[in-house]
Amino acid sequence: MGASNLLQKNDIKYLVVHCSDTDTTDTAIDIHKLHLEFGWEGIGYHKIIEKNGKIVNGRPEFWKGAHVYKFNDKSLGVCLIGKSNFTRKQYISLKQVLIDWKKKYPYAVILGHKDFSYTKKTCPNFDVKLWCEREGIL
Ligand SMILES: [Zn+2]
Repeated sequence: MGASNLLQKNDIKYLVVHCSDTDTTDTAIDIHKLHLEFGWEGIGYHKIIEKNGKIVNGRPEFWKGAHVYKFNDKSLGVCLIGKSNFTRKQYISLKQVLIDWKKKYPYAVILGHKDFSYTKKTCPNFDVKLWCEREGIL
């Protein structure tokens, strides 16, 4: 990986929530294999939250992800496995990941993938901002 693939702490302006949006991926390894098939350098997300709430590390936070077009050089990505039927344990883990990240990157804004105006995707199929407000994640 070249220097352009490295993220500095101050580069992180957005914390982006995704979902896997497919029935054929159940684990972080499934997504890793899928993204390798895309010709990417392995899984494009920094954290993956499996159905049982298990948080799996993807790319390290200093390594640019592949998850949000045109914003990969200023964001980190977390992906919930599933389409919209996320489990309670997944939401608990998501809250944990986002609170941890906000401690490290206090000026970063939390958004859902669909909140980026260029995309027609509905990922992660819920209103991340509203959810964060309700959960007290600022
Ligand atoms: Zn997404």
